[in-house]
Amino acid sequence: MDARTLEYFLTLLQAASSSEDFKASLDAFLAALREAFIFDNMAIYLAGINDEELEIAYARAMGRGRSAEADAAWGEALAGQVIASREIILQEPKRSGDTARLDRPYLLGLPLFIGQETRGALTFVRFGGPPYLPEHVLLARLAAWVIAELFRREEQQRLLEQLNSVQQQMRLQEDFLATISHELRTPLGFIKGYTTTLLRQDTTWDEATRREFLTIIDEEATHLTELIENVLESARLQSGAVSLTIQPLRVDALLRDVTTRYRARYKDLEVTLDFEAVPLVLGDGARLSQVFENLFSNALKYAPGSPITITLRRRGDALRIAFGDRGPGVPPEHLPHIFDRFYRVPGRARRPGAGLGLYICKQIIQAHHGKIWAESTPGQGTTFFIELPGQGQPNESPIARD
Ligand code: ADP
Repeated sequence: MDARTLEYFLTLLQAASSSEDFKASLDAFLAALREAFIFDNMAIYLAGINDEELEIAYARAMGRGRSAEADAAWGEALAGQVIASREIILQEPKRSGDTARLDRPYLLGLPLFIGQETRGALTFVRFGGPPYLPEHVLLARLAAWVIAELFRREEQQRLLEQLNSVQQQMRLQEDFLATISHELRTPLGFIKGYTTTLLRQDTTWDEATRREFLTIIDEEATHLTELIENVLESARLQSGAVSLTIQPLRVDALLRDVTTRYRARYKDLEVTLDFEAVPLVLGDGARLSQVFENLFSNALKYAPGSPITITLRRRGDALRIAFGDRGPGVPPEHLPHIFDRFYRVPGRARRPGAGLGLYICKQIIQAHHGKIWAESTPGQGTTFFIELPGQGQPNESPIARD
């Protein structure tokens, strides 16, 4: 064997492992192959789950100015035969020198083996020749072997990625179970404790104490309900089982309703509304209210005692809601994650929750083709922004400042 041949093999093999990226390696390998092996088009077919379907995994047109995609059809029948027979197939046109070059394809098909299994076929075409010589077929066999290896490597990489993502999911799930059991137990502990105390036969409680205990029980039951709702809602969103009931909505009216409910429940709550006339939104009123309620509930939990300002602005055809508090804010390193499922800013005074509220908000807003994000300055407060696509003209009667 001469040195040039060996050097060429080395170039081929180096090209095949030149990149972590499967497609880039394949490109580099085919470019190197073509230095010694002429072909116009090549295509790789993979056998589908039920062997009848062939999927084209890669196609390349080198010469003759035809697109690889359009030309892939030439190889399909050949690939089918190769996979069925598990053998190399050579097909040469019947000689008739006066037909056009493109009507005289010289075909070569080789099976792609992964282990003992035929996973697909590698096909080459030369339009108008030259015929494949035995050394060409040998080189093509080497190519088939390398390409099968590349596919195997890619399959392994994919499996590894899947495994990693499953492991990540499992870790989150475990964290979630730990969090949720703690979060369920805490309010239940309060409810049980205060109920037992109130029921004691040997003590009588004055009215003020009774009210205080009942208020705690009531608040803890509310937390519990919110938590369970959030867990169920997040599971529904995760499985894609949520459907929206879409109708034209006035977002200003929705915000006003939610604000009224919160003002009634928390007498000291200071909320400023600053609304501009905005277009209607096509959306699900109950779901959007749920988002606003979540923002209120977070502001109460994480920025207790802070005033809240809600502004509504028109932005071209869209509208933008800004929901701001003047609480302690979110540290910048955590801000990008607060919309992730189960994410909670660590090291804070613990509040009831499971890191699901903002995840749910994001899913709902995205289902409305909108965007939600937050900006925060530690020590000065947090503002949540929501942008929703609007429909038509602004409402005729803008609601004045409040
Ligand atoms: P949960 O409240 O159950 O922890 P969320 O998804 O609603 O889950 O919020 C994620 C995290 O974002 C919270 O744990 C909290 O640290 C932070 N956060 C949310 N709203 C605010 C806010 N208004 N001010 C400061 N931090 C907030």
